[in-house]
Amino acid sequence: MASNKSLLILPGDGIGPEAMTEVRRVVDWMQDNRAVSFEVDEDLVGGASIDAHGIPITDEVVDKAQNVDAVLLGAVGGPKWDNLDFSIKPERGLLRLRKDLELYANLRPAICFDALVDASSLKPELVSGLDIMIVRELTGGVYFGEPRGIEDLGNGVRKGVNTQVYTTPEIHRVARVAFELAQKRDGRVCSSEKANVMESGVLWREEVTKIHETEFPDVELSHMYADNAAMQLVRAPKQFDVIVTDNLFGDILSDCAAMLTGSLGMLPSASLGDVDEHGRRKALYEPVHGSAPDIAGENIANPIATILSYAMALRYSFDMPGEADLVEKAVQNVLAGGMRTADIMAEGMAKVSTTVMGDAILRELDKLNG
Ligand code: NAD
Repeated sequence: MASNKSLLILPGDGIGPEAMTEVRRVVDWMQDNRAVSFEVDEDLVGGASIDAHGIPITDEVVDKAQNVDAVLLGAVGGPKWDNLDFSIKPERGLLRLRKDLELYANLRPAICFDALVDASSLKPELVSGLDIMIVRELTGGVYFGEPRGIEDLGNGVRKGVNTQVYTTPEIHRVARVAFELAQKRDGRVCSSEKANVMESGVLWREEVTKIHETEFPDVELSHMYADNAAMQLVRAPKQFDVIVTDNLFGDILSDCAAMLTGSLGMLPSASLGDVDEHGRRKALYEPVHGSAPDIAGENIANPIATILSYAMALRYSFDMPGEADLVEKAVQNVLAGGMRTADIMAEGMAKVSTTVMGDAILRELDKLNG
């Protein structure tokens, strides 16, 4: 079958390759059972690329990433490369991808699977059925603004400076991503900033409102100061559908929301850029967790975050919501059946390996597919 869907897989380091092996099986299952075909390419990033080529990502791999529908990345890094110069560390491979592909919108879903409700630090009734999406602006704001630095003022006094900067195009493009997502979800966006004390926050609020009024009147828009959003996330998280916010507040709010759902081994993410001349939106999907060198090679890592990252790719890059639902439902059923990798193990459940978790998800896909 000729394919018009291209996927670049970059397993990376540590548990990345182990988790990605299970994803490859799900990709193969899709081809065998859903009459879709992916053109799948695999290459090196991070420490694996350093070992082979002396650099954390080659121009050739970046070029491939520029020309596929989606990139799926495992994780990068590990003690073997910790003492390298910062400019060639494994993490630079990932940073270069984000920069060269101009991935300005970071999507972090916080979904609480019923079977894991007890793993949350909040009461079960607050998180049961939780399904929210945080859209964080990723390439602007105070992490990149100039001037920045530490200045010696003399007499033992020093000054540290960072600058929060946003232009209207930067706000518009990330707002559009949030509104478009809301259209595919529950139709609600909450925009978060500190317009009460920051001019950049006033601009953010005005410009998000402008995009809403002119392009997305069908979506419901609300605004919330970021400190209140943090409180509301732990008080009543289910009130949200999509939250859109800047780089700094998004960093904090997305970590806060992630922990509502329990475990690092369960959390997928997506980073999106602009739509190119072929109508393709640049996209990188990856689990939130790192390469977990402490458990690498032992076949005990949880592959679910990486498998759910592939499900996000199905939903947002390949426009295959039915197949994305299927993968998510299979994961949900396997957890409900009592299988757990070590990181999410609980009393009375069955502890299984990475491979056995993959087997179980494939079996569940078979069942769901009838
Ligand atoms: P980590 O996320 O790799 O691990 C934190 C803890 O969670 C560890 O105890 C690990 O065993 C556990 N864990 C993480 N994912 C798991 C999974 N899927 N299943 C079971 N347990 C899991 O973070 P860290 O230890 O701070 O960093 C380790 C390395 O990963 C470092 O080199 C760091 O730079 C790198 N890192 C990479 C990324 C990325 O590639 N995006 C992100 C974070 C850290």
